[in-house]
Amino acid sequence: MSRVYNFSAGPAALPEPVLRKAAAEMLDWCGSGQSVMEMSHRGPDYMSIHAQAQQDLRDLLNIPDSYKILFLQGGGTTQFEMVPINLLRGKGKADYVITGEWSKRAAQEARAFCQVNVVADSANAKGQHTFVPKQSDWKLKKDAAYVHVCTNETLGGVEYHWTPDTGKVPLVADMSSHILSKQIDVSKYGLIYAGAQKNIGPAGLVLVIVREDLIGHAVPTPPPMFNYKVHADHDSMLNTPPTYSIYMAGLVFQWLKQQGGVAEMEKRNIQKANLLYDALDRLPFYSTKVNKGDRSRMNVPFTLPDARLDEAFLAGAKERGMVQLKGHRLIGGMRASIYNAMPLSGVETLVAYLNEFAQKNG
Ligand SMILES: *Cc1c(COP(=O)(O)O)cnc(C)c1O
Repeated sequence: MSRVYNFSAGPAALPEPVLRKAAAEMLDWCGSGQSVMEMSHRGPDYMSIHAQAQQDLRDLLNIPDSYKILFLQGGGTTQFEMVPINLLRGKGKADYVITGEWSKRAAQEARAFCQVNVVADSANAKGQHTFVPKQSDWKLKKDAAYVHVCTNETLGGVEYHWTPDTGKVPLVADMSSHILSKQIDVSKYGLIYAGAQKNIGPAGLVLVIVREDLIGHAVPTPPPMFNYKVHADHDSMLNTPPTYSIYMAGLVFQWLKQQGGVAEMEKRNIQKANLLYDALDRLPFYSTKVNKGDRSRMNVPFTLPDARLDEAFLAGAKERGMVQLKGHRLIGGMRASIYNAMPLSGVETLVAYLNEFAQKNG
């Protein structure tokens, strides 16, 4: 068996030790004689997996007791709707900061529920997003129900390296593609959500971390499956939760703890990102668009001097065991996603290839 270096933006690579553990436990989880997939979600075995995953996430991100952790379904996209449904709390407006395709989508979905104030939008004349607007340029409204940001734009590779301060107005962040990649102060946020398939586990599962006082005030009362309060009251077991995905996420949380936690991942992610950006900056053959101070450590888009070289670049990468480097169709070029599960050796292999390809074709 030989595993590739998978640079996919999502579903993305998982840590190999996690996959090995899941494989070893596939037929018989801890002497239960069953796969986790086959277990009743109300039984003690699954309940222990569920509780452990929650506790480990709480430990990893130092989530205060005043925050609920929800394991929901429907991916990050469902949260584009659940956030306004639950957090408007009778207010008719919400603030959105647009830094790329995902925050744009979130704002678009929210328009079905409220007046969306775009308080800042980094789009240039071509519609490209290459930076995070400074907070001093945001036109925040005091009566907004919340301020929504996407702290890592997976498509464009734009990341916040600072935490907005929205005062009394709750800050809501889509952290789908960089949660657990660096230390954060959860208490600065009213709500954080993250689809699992980028940096946590299998697709479908979405994590919501929400300050308790913000839930239970939705007007009108949402249907139960769209109501954070109901999910919180049922400990994410209103209906059958995505049990296997939660188990896999739990294994990733345990792996993160064994590696030294989020602080250690942050160190490694800085090292990997620096290595890759240094190569892209050093070799004039490649171009990057994002402002240096706002570059994502997780998603690194770059282009070759001529798009006609793209196919050859990708084919050569594949020969060297590197896959999924093609950029998103909206952005073009290449994109290397280097989440927690991407080892340093993967980035080193890519950098060696970047050198080689530029030399041959430059
Ligand atoms: C992938 C992604 C989403 C959407 O996730 P789905 O699980 O496909 O709904 C939302 N926001 C960000 C930042 C993402 O990277």
